[in-house]
Amino acid sequence: MITAKGYATHSPSDKLKPWNFERREIGPNDVKIEILFSGVCHSDIHQARSEWFPGIYPMVPGHEIVGRITEIGSAITKFKINQLAGVGCMVDSCQQCNNCQKGFEQFCEVGKTVFTYNSLEKDGKTPTYGGYSNIIVVNENFVLSVSDKLPLEGVAPLLCAGITTYSPIRKWNIGKGHKVAVLGLGGLGHMAVKFAVAFGAEVSVLSTSPDKEQDAYKLGAHNFYHTKDEEQVKQLTNQFDFIIDTVSAAHNYDMYLKMLAANGVQILVGIPSTPIQFSGFSLLTNGRSISASSIGGIPETQEMLDFCALHNIVSDIELININYINEAYERVLKSDVKYRFVIDCSTL
Ligand code: NAP
Ligand code: ZN
Repeated sequence: MITAKGYATHSPSDKLKPWNFERREIGPNDVKIEILFSGVCHSDIHQARSEWFPGIYPMVPGHEIVGRITEIGSAITKFKINQLAGVGCMVDSCQQCNNCQKGFEQFCEVGKTVFTYNSLEKDGKTPTYGGYSNIIVVNENFVLSVSDKLPLEGVAPLLCAGITTYSPIRKWNIGKGHKVAVLGLGGLGHMAVKFAVAFGAEVSVLSTSPDKEQDAYKLGAHNFYHTKDEEQVKQLTNQFDFIIDTVSAAHNYDMYLKMLAANGVQILVGIPSTPIQFSGFSLLTNGRSISASSIGGIPETQEMLDFCALHNIVSDIELININYINEAYERVLKSDVKYRFVIDCSTL
């Protein structure tokens, strides 16, 4: 076994603290990565606190991982030692079923998607541990190639915030001629703005934080609306073709659905811990739809990373020492992050 250093929480009410644990030795198809940077996703907070479902403890969160390959298994041909690599939300799946074969490993039909942490390996008993650590061992088919042209700390959040917003934009062919609203300007939201702008859409930010207006324009948005201002909300009735909803907490779905033009779609990527509720009439009017999107498969994640390298897209980040992680969580909960915390894993 390999001894790894990390930060873990031991119960839903615990703070994260240093924890040493073991990773498997590398097998023939595995890659060992020295983790350099690890992004802090709001999903880490939902899971560390068992807000979605009971978590597996001790839990080492983190699924926005970039690092350098330090060892490769005997059967590896795709990767070399010293190469940069990324790991996102998944580290394995059955790799055989229809969905896995099509590159939708997040929808593995036999339920064998192994998430990067708070999940069990395919053996059904070994817990997985995430990126708030110094080393990770991953099956090569779940390792992404990372360009050396972009600042690595800004690349880390692409592995979740990036792919989660890129994927629905591609699926719905969002681009030129579309009016798109990004609801919530946080980690996912700021990436949604960058991608929607890159694909040529007219982008509006819908935010509860008026102080983010100038940032929204700097990110490339064309319009900014403060959603606590009733007058501004009223003028948005029937306006957008798409709303990309990144909000992490319970909110008023009817209020936002009304902003959709004919045949408009609200795409949920934010996952509040409580069930969502809305009136059927909010959909009937204008024939609106509500849809949702879950991360993205491995081939599309590589496509997104290559797109970002080509178009010089990275996340706007605040680099932190690992010992700031509990404070960082509190700030994320107050929507006070510009726009992703990333852990410098050399501080472990
Ligand atoms: P984040 O950085 O905290 O951003 C969420 C933003 O939502 C906040 O910055 C805030 O933006 C807005 N917001 C927060 N509370 C709100 C409220 N009560 N009403 C209205 N707006 C509110 O979080 P994130 O990391 O981007 O993640 C967002 C959500 O996506 C989380 O639920 C996360 O678990 C989920 N997620 C889903 C997937 C997936 O596969 N679907 C993948 C990753 C994450 P303003 O200040 O602009 O209002
Ligand atoms: Zn995430």
